[in-house]
Amino acid sequence: INKSANSQFQNYLFDLHQKYQSLKEGLLADYIPELKKANPEWFGISIVTTDGQIYQIGDYQQTFTIQSISKPFVYGMALENYGREVVLNKVGVEPTGQAFNSIDLDQKNNRPYNPMVNAGAIATTNLLTVEGASERLEQILKMFSRYTGREHNVDWSVFLSEKATGSKNKALAYLMHNSGMISDNIEETLDLYFQQCSISVSCHDLAMMGATIANKGVNPITGEQALNKYYVQDVLSVMHSCGMYDFAGEWAYRVGLPAKSGVSGGLVMAIPGKCGIGIFSPLLDAKGNSVRAIKVCEQLTRDLGLHLYNAV
Ligand code: GLN
Repeated sequence: INKSANSQFQNYLFDLHQKYQSLKEGLLADYIPELKKANPEWFGISIVTTDGQIYQIGDYQQTFTIQSISKPFVYGMALENYGREVVLNKVGVEPTGQAFNSIDLDQKNNRPYNPMVNAGAIATTNLLTVEGASERLEQILKMFSRYTGREHNVDWSVFLSEKATGSKNKALAYLMHNSGMISDNIEETLDLYFQQCSISVSCHDLAMMGATIANKGVNPITGEQALNKYYVQDVLSVMHSCGMYDFAGEWAYRVGLPAKSGVSGGLVMAIPGKCGIGIFSPLLDAKGNSVRAIKVCEQLTRDLGLHLYNAV
């Protein structure tokens, strides 16, 4: 892209941001008390291309906890550590059509349905704790650093807030343990899961993560391999089919690209070979997805013809 196309796109982004800043629909997540402290006005968009160009607008530097957006990346780490067969044996890849914290499990195959809902994410994290839990948080933080190119830490007040109120996730973990889906170290697994959800990121970081996975797992700015390219397609497929919970089918229809949302209001989208997009706006719809982020993705993909199956 040359200089004038560059500023044209920056102007486009400015208008898009302005249009949806005035949209006040949705509510802050409150089941994790600490998340209620977010400012409902916060709204940032960041785009990083696979050749390293950066476009951003609004509160793109504002940090927030990554929440469920950690799930596909931790899933990628499990795939690298244990291989596709072992991981598939423990966690399926079937969309649930249910809320992210649903208690529904795939009893027939004795595993949770997919790694993007809480049950599947807890089982994925459990896999990672089996060998040496104490170093795992460090490894997870380092993994995110490879994607974003900067150091990350845990927001301990959000971690404590979720640990204190996360009875449903605890129930899920104990239920899975009861069916032999996860190993005995339940509390350790839950702690690590709550910690991975409480890692602090900005929407620029999310765009870097999206761009890296869109770039065959290689960070387009640092050149570092964040995810073995062999597993890129696995991570992107589960994001495509399950990344938006019980909105996943409609998302695939309307936007047609792999994405993942989280209850703090973040969203990451990857456009293979092109770019990563990070959006942050904490007002959520009833399914726990950011209202403004959905609007932005819908309009952006329509305007630029980015839907995977777009033919015009
Ligand atoms: N930590 C949150 C939970 O487990 C993540 C959920 C989400 O972002 N949808 O409830």
